[in-house]
Amino acid sequence: MDFNPCMKHKVVRKAVRMFAEAELGPIAHDIDRDARFPWEVVEKMRPLQFFGLQAPRAYGGAEMDSISYAIAIEEVSRVSAAMGLCLTVHNSVGVYPIVRFGTEEQKRRFLPAMTRGERIGAFCLTEANAGSDAGGVETTAVRDGSDFVLNGTKIFVTNGGCCGAALIFAITDPQNPQRSAGVFVVEKDTPGFTVGEIEDLCGMRANPVSSLFLEECRVPETNLLGRPGDGIRIGLTALDTGRIGVAAQALGIAQAAFEDTVRYSKERQQFRKPISSFQTIQNYLADMTTEIDASRLLLYRACAMKDSGRPFGAEAAMAKLYCSATATRVTNLAVQVHGGYGYSKEYDVERYFRDAKVTEIYEGTSEIQRMVIARAVLAQRT
Ligand SMILES: Cc1cc2nc3c(=O)[nH]c(=O)nc-3n(C[C@H](O)[C@H](O)[C@H](O)COP(=O)(O)OP(=O)(O)OC[C@H]3O[C@@H](n4cnc5c(N)ncnc54)[C@H](O)[C@@H]3O)c2cc1C
Repeated sequence: MDFNPCMKHKVVRKAVRMFAEAELGPIAHDIDRDARFPWEVVEKMRPLQFFGLQAPRAYGGAEMDSISYAIAIEEVSRVSAAMGLCLTVHNSVGVYPIVRFGTEEQKRRFLPAMTRGERIGAFCLTEANAGSDAGGVETTAVRDGSDFVLNGTKIFVTNGGCCGAALIFAITDPQNPQRSAGVFVVEKDTPGFTVGEIEDLCGMRANPVSSLFLEECRVPETNLLGRPGDGIRIGLTALDTGRIGVAAQALGIAQAAFEDTVRYSKERQQFRKPISSFQTIQNYLADMTTEIDASRLLLYRACAMKDSGRPFGAEAAMAKLYCSATATRVTNLAVQVHGGYGYSKEYDVERYFRDAKVTEIYEGTSEIQRMVIARAVLAQRT
């Protein structure tokens, strides 16, 4: 077992870190304050393949392995978690389901514009009555000749306000919702597809999370991924990959909070000494770095299992559960070590603290991750 990063992964980390620090670093605070999506950075990310991190080269992607992907998300999120959120949702639950479940015709039609970042992806499962219970989807897709007509409202859609292609979960038979759910690719300019209000969120404020409305929204049957009834399977498969991305995002936030805390604890003097000389502060730093290391190992194991073709759903759930809890604990300690300044918007730890919490909520809450993990444990032969 080799725990040293290989040259390829070192290069990805260095390149993404340099880009993120140069392009997102100077604006990360302001885009959070103003709840502004940074289109100017998207422009610069497009030619660098940030929008096709793992997509096949044939469709314009960079075809990265999963550890490289996790490193890229981690490094962007270390500087701007909201932009990390945009990329992880686009790549892992926007592009990936089309790569995995799309026909050749669908891949050719949808992927190039998505991997070029001209159409940012969104994943639209959640509704007012369908949160943790994906089987509660009420949006309908009624067949009309060779089209489907969609009606319904999606809420909490990451990238909602900037998306060009939305994967919409809808039921084709209201009498049999579980077995009739399908996933439809709906492009932004389709009549009947409208973006609602942008959510006024606690964190991740630079991502335009919004509701989406579908009113008599007509799409050809060739926009359906798989068959009616495949929706839940496609959704759960996408979320396994998505959880790797959220874990990486949480890890990036925790890493940023830790680095700022080490620096601050050496600079801040109380009782005529740097606060880093106090044993309690050292204990906090030790706990933070240990949890970050453990998180990283769990995450990279899930990535390695995915790339070796083995089942990785439980490992991705463990990584997401642990990395998100780490992000919450580490950012909480970061604020504590910064004292009153940590509670002020003058310091970035306040933003990390707000951004971290939601990693325990979206793409399956921590309670749902525990259900996934426990199911795998109980299915094992003793
Ligand atoms: C910023 C943000 C971005 C988001 N982006 C997206 C997106 O892009 N696409 C999308 O589809 N959704 C998105 N979501 C929605 C998110 O995935 C849901 O909020 C999440 O799945 C939880 O659903 P809910 O909010 O309805 O909570 P509920 O399902 O109502 O859960 C409430 C509480 O009950 C617990 N609970 C529920 N069921 C069980 C159970 N069986 N056992 C134990 N505990 C349980 C939950 O863990 C939670 O603590 C986003 C949410 C936020 C806040």
